[in-house]
Amino acid sequence: MLPLVKFCTRAVNKIMGLIPNDVINRVIERSDIVEIIGNYTALKKAGRNFKALCPFHNEKTPSFVVNPDKQIFHCFGCGVGGNVVGFLMRQEHLEFPEAVRLLANKAGVVVPEGESDTPSPSRQLREAILKVNALAAAFFHEGLVTHREADVKTARDYLKGRGVNLETVKKFQLGFAPNEWDALLKYLKSKSISEELMQKAGLIIAREGKSGYYDRFRNRIMFPIFDIQNRPLAFGARALKDDDGAKYINSPETVVYTKGQHMFGLQLTKTAVGKSDRMIVVEGYMDMIMPYIHGVENIAASLGTALTVDQIRLIRRYTRNVLMLFDTDAAGQSAIERSLITLVEEGMNVRMVTLDKDKDPDAFIRSSGIDAFEKRIDQAESFFDFRLNWYKAKYDIKTSEGMSQFFHKMKETIALSGDPMIQAHWAKQFKEKFKVSERLMLEQLNQFIKEERTLSNVPRVALETRKGEELLLALFLKDPAWVKAAQEKAIGPEDFSDGLIHTVVEAMWTLEAESGEWSTNDLLTRLNDESARSLVARLISVEEGQLGDTARVFQDCIGSIYKKKQRETRSQLMEAIRQAEAEGDAEKLDQLKEQFNQLLKT
Ligand SMILES: [Zn+2]
Repeated sequence: MLPLVKFCTRAVNKIMGLIPNDVINRVIERSDIVEIIGNYTALKKAGRNFKALCPFHNEKTPSFVVNPDKQIFHCFGCGVGGNVVGFLMRQEHLEFPEAVRLLANKAGVVVPEGESDTPSPSRQLREAILKVNALAAAFFHEGLVTHREADVKTARDYLKGRGVNLETVKKFQLGFAPNEWDALLKYLKSKSISEELMQKAGLIIAREGKSGYYDRFRNRIMFPIFDIQNRPLAFGARALKDDDGAKYINSPETVVYTKGQHMFGLQLTKTAVGKSDRMIVVEGYMDMIMPYIHGVENIAASLGTALTVDQIRLIRRYTRNVLMLFDTDAAGQSAIERSLITLVEEGMNVRMVTLDKDKDPDAFIRSSGIDAFEKRIDQAESFFDFRLNWYKAKYDIKTSEGMSQFFHKMKETIALSGDPMIQAHWAKQFKEKFKVSERLMLEQLNQFIKEERTLSNVPRVALETRKGEELLLALFLKDPAWVKAAQEKAIGPEDFSDGLIHTVVEAMWTLEAESGEWSTNDLLTRLNDESARSLVARLISVEEGQLGDTARVFQDCIGSIYKKKQRETRSQLMEAIRQAEAEGDAEKLDQLKEQFNQLLKT
């Protein structure tokens, strides 16, 4: 038992920046969350709690609650929550160990120096790459702003022609990679950077069949990609000439850069996004920069084909309202499709902005002006209307086949939202829009309404499952005795189908295995994901009375997990039976059918 505990604690300390657990706990114990948060927003006493206007989203009536007994905060408006460390991480954009050190200073707790201050090798590499990237960004930027060669002039003229002035160049740290094989390489060498590190940062490429390296980016306009803490993670590079390979090339994935985890420009616009409570999402660098120059400040670019779940979660830190503005060319179409589906599944409110055919925001603003652009933003279509018009144009609804495809797609669309209220609203809209007397249409519509009734059960089950899992988690947080009770019933993290809940339960199970005694703060310290910490804070904030008869709630939740398990086993067995039948494997079939009968009996 002991060695395991030691190992785990050490592993966790590594993640936390090597601050020992007992020091972290002492820092949290000695810090008063009311006092710390009171420095940032005016707290008013409300019963046992304190209320305030949320510092993380724009609101007129306070929905931000600080609970001094449990030492946590939670915003019922934007959903953010956690303990005092989590608050500082978000408010001051700090990493976990940085936030702990800041609090330690205030509370007069000494964080041990020496071994515990040496960052882990992977952290050292991350920091080294960020430093090399910063040097490279400065080198490219300097080159664009000060050099006078013909190539640089072409780059400057290109930007000038698009209305990108010096101020913007500085804000985005735009740069120019010289038309040479080793300009950056030489520069970084002069700064004592090793070739190995340059390669790990994705800045140079090894020569084929020969020794040595060459610059990845040559004769290109450079767009550094920053994270929300303004650290340069990677580069995008635009060719100056049409015949110079791909129009855009990018840094490869590195230790600090994973594609699809960041939004271009968000480090500059996150405050505006939070304040306006909506974000315009575009595809490319110039699509983001052009509207920004003209005063559209709540915008960021996805830099990929479709929005990923990671990106959506990043956006959700600032707002739930997304306006998608993507190219509607053939390649863009499927990207929008996928993005919209993920957005709706992640519970975001999404609307679509369409510009003229074959025009990206950059081209649109240049030809029609910023006023026309903002008008299009205001005219954004709802997700539902967008799909309706899209499929109406895509399928020939005068033919019965086209009509059937159209209805099928619209049923799918309605089913995407897990929220029955939204489903009902969409279904109603659909019926209203299709008041057509043609018989074909009516038949289809009736069929649709019939199917809609059965269909709407599917997401409802999913919603109820999530609610059940949340209730169970709320019980676990209220009293760890329920954790033990669940473990006795052979419930494990894998039984929770909601990703976030799964993460939290897994951390609880680990804490329980390490030592039976752990606090909410231990749990919050353990969770790396802010969404997971917010979930915990929200569930802790649930009033005692709201949980009702806890023993009964526990029984019901466990019961529904058992039922879900059974359903899954049953459908797996049925699938196996189908396969055995197809393969004509009589022996296996008998065996499976026997198993199936056993299952039905239990
Ligand atoms: Zn809030």
